Amino acid sequence: MVTIHLIPGDITEQSVDAVVNAANSSLLGGGGVDGAIHRRGGPEILAECRALRASRYGKVLPTGEAVATTAGRLPARWVIHTVGPVWSASEDRSPQLASCYRESLRVARELGARTVAFPAISTGVYGWPLEDGARVALAAVREETERDDAFEEIRFVLFGEGAYDAFTRAL
Ligand code: ADP
Repeated sequence: MVTIHLIPGDITEQSVDAVVNAANSSLLGGGGVDGAIHRRGGPEILAECRALRASRYGKVLPTGEAVATTAGRLPARWVIHTVGPVWSASEDRSPQLASCYRESLRVARELGARTVAFPAISTGVYGWPLEDGARVALAAVREETERDDAFEEIRFVLFGEGAYDAFTRAL
């Protein structure tokens, strides 16, 4: 059975099989968790992202999809890059946010990754309210991991007290 852990901290310090990156669709890096992963992981990750980008139609990763690279100097084996939706007050984009978690786990499953660390996707620059982001994240991960024994541990690595509290309440 899978264990879901909530951990306050920095995702770049996690020794897990795969860490998930809240990337942007260019795959060329950005701020927040994306910036931290590339800074700490080194240039190898960006080089692989560039190669993936070059091989993609339109040179973008669509919202809700996920792709993997190696993890460079991070204490993980893979980075799974996924693009969260920007928060909208007028449109319900939670299916796309749920898709980020599901697709990341699908990729992890293909890689044989049994321990996976997630950040709170879309809750930074993309403006998603933490409480709702936490609810969508936990529901999607529960649903996707309950099917079989593919995963041992899913870790939500929460940066800042607000995120940790929101996930704790949602769990
Ligand atoms: P998005 O563009 O999807 O909103 P951000 O990187 O701006 O992505 O933020 C997503 C979440 O990741 C936010 O809750 C932010 O506080 C958090 N975050 C930022 N840096 C880190 C880090 N090093 N480890 C874990 N979470 C982080």
